[in-house]
Amino acid sequence: MLKYILGDIMDRIVMHIDVNSAFLSWSSLKLLKEGSKIDLRNEISVVSGDESKRHGIVIAASIPAKKIGIRSPMNLADARKIYRDLYVTKPDREFYKECSKNMMRLIKYLFPTYEQFSIDECFVEYTEMRKMYGDEVKFAHKLKDEIYKRYGFTVNVGIGNNKLLAKMASDFEKPNKVHTLYSNEIKEKMNPLPIRDLFMAGKSACAKLDSLGIKTIGDLANYDQNKLVGILKSQGKMLYEYANGIDDSPVENRYDDRKGIGFSKTLEDDIEDKTILYSELNNFSKKISLELKKRGLYARTIVVTLRYTSFKTYNHQLKLDNNTNIEEDIFKNAKLAFNKLWNLEPVRLIGLRVTDMSNNNDIQLSLFDENQKIITDKELDKIIDNINKEFGSGTVFKGYDNMKKEKIEK
Ligand SMILES: [Mg+2]
Repeated sequence: MLKYILGDIMDRIVMHIDVNSAFLSWSSLKLLKEGSKIDLRNEISVVSGDESKRHGIVIAASIPAKKIGIRSPMNLADARKIYRDLYVTKPDREFYKECSKNMMRLIKYLFPTYEQFSIDECFVEYTEMRKMYGDEVKFAHKLKDEIYKRYGFTVNVGIGNNKLLAKMASDFEKPNKVHTLYSNEIKEKMNPLPIRDLFMAGKSACAKLDSLGIKTIGDLANYDQNKLVGILKSQGKMLYEYANGIDDSPVENRYDDRKGIGFSKTLEDDIEDKTILYSELNNFSKKISLELKKRGLYARTIVVTLRYTSFKTYNHQLKLDNNTNIEEDIFKNAKLAFNKLWNLEPVRLIGLRVTDMSNNNDIQLSLFDENQKIITDKELDKIIDNINKEFGSGTVFKGYDNMKKEKIEK
């Protein structure tokens, strides 16, 4: 009995918040603000690029437009064939960004652990927040109403026991709805859906699955997993797991812009053990380094964030001598910043982020970075010059220069 109760309490709860027809709603909102009398959300309408410049592609369609078969990325001309008197408006990326930022700011304020998934979607880890905010369904209703009241656009909130289930749930009937898809509701709510509704099931995978006689998510969930992996490789494994509602990926905070890259994690227990906290920092350093290298960027500042059981959050910033994208450098400095910040209280959340990013590393290549295999002659010269300036000329020189010198002297 106790186990059963504990099991219930400890169930993970994740929410997925998704703006309904985001670009269309946001464009409509802008027009209303500018004095338009028509709310495009209630009309057969689309957002589309410039037809005269061959950009006449439907970027977003209103719910009434979707109901009669108008979808992105259809040609505007084809959409007009479906409905001649279609309302068409242009995209406004700056305004979209502003709407997105507003919503994310509220989410960030309410939830210590959230993950922006795209411009109009995010996940939040609700498990721990239940103690503060209570029942998730009631809170989700409050949240969606609050977003509407503050910003004037509607969202769907999906609730599930992991990110996949929450994401699937938010995609159920729209707009302005809260849906649950708990593990014990998969059979009833997810299995009957067509396979194309499964998250990450693209066109070509769906065609292959269809040829195997797999029409619904339930068909896929009950299919032989080994056969699937044989045909679709790792994608087969992933889709099979998704069809069965399996996904243990964490909700991870990401700071995903030019200003910074970072990660944070709400810990399962309140942690006082420094080695555990260090290992989290190490893990974040790895990911940050990878992300920087992928984008060809280097960072100059490191920020460690700690939240204690009191929910008080503190940051410590450290300016580095050199720009870096090297894991060891990031980790070493993260530990320094952490030690300056930590007051030995149990830690609830830990985060690491780098900022001040640029795409030049000046002379800051580390000689000891194994990952940085390619050093150009020019870069090597700079390094050598710097060392020689610091320690006296002739301290180091390039091997082949020396060989040349020897040849001449002979
Ligand atoms: Mg959306």
